Amino acid sequence: MPRIAQAVPREQMVLHQLAERGVCDARVLQAFREVPRHAFVPPELAAQAYDDRALAIEAGQTISQPYIVALMIEALSLRSRDRVIEVGTGSGYAAALCSLLCAEVYTVERHAELADRASARLVELGYANVHVRIADGTRGWPEEAPFNAILVSAGGPRVPAALEAQLEMGGRLVIPVGERRAGQKLLRVTRRSATRLEREDLCEVAFVPLVGAEGWGEDQA
Ligand code: SAH
Repeated sequence: MPRIAQAVPREQMVLHQLAERGVCDARVLQAFREVPRHAFVPPELAAQAYDDRALAIEAGQTISQPYIVALMIEALSLRSRDRVIEVGTGSGYAAALCSLLCAEVYTVERHAELADRASARLVELGYANVHVRIADGTRGWPEEAPFNAILVSAGGPRVPAALEAQLEMGGRLVIPVGERRAGQKLLRVTRRSATRLEREDLCEVAFVPLVGAEGWGEDQA
């Protein structure tokens, strides 16, 4: 799919799916204008890349609905000096968006097939400040902690303690928490002090399961 042919649907996506629904951070909207979502979906789905929904990717996973990704990234209030960790690389799309908004992105994926594809794609597209690791992201990335922001792109039963522990003072963590298959609540956790974490409910969402030590069991996925 020629890239130029996708500039119009991408602009329509930014306008109708994001801006008209209340996403107003200009830097976030600009990042969505720049990242070619069609390069992050399987080739046979490229024509649907700017539709208002999640799409199937490899390993039975999904690339999330653009609006929900925008809500989550906006809720993280990323600054250009921030260091960010994402749990659930999937296609690499959210990591690419974050990479335009902050200094370094550390993204963790449990499926090697997805991590390898995403990593190659991110290099090819020139997102040089994204670091991909194959691991259980519910444990975070201790060697690179603490982080200013944590984006969890899969739904867990609770907020992983390891992730809260890797949150910098003033840092923000956004995660879907709730049932495994039914809906979840999108939560934002903000570190106010060494001992105080503030929790807010943002909205209802539906994500694929977060599977790991502080997520759902392998057999439950
Ligand atoms: N952010 C992705 C969305 C991927 S869907 C994108 O933009 O395309 C969520 C991803 O989380 C899936 O790829 C799934 O394999 C991964 N995942 C689930 N549990 C995980 C865990 N404990 N650690 C790392 N990745 C996990």
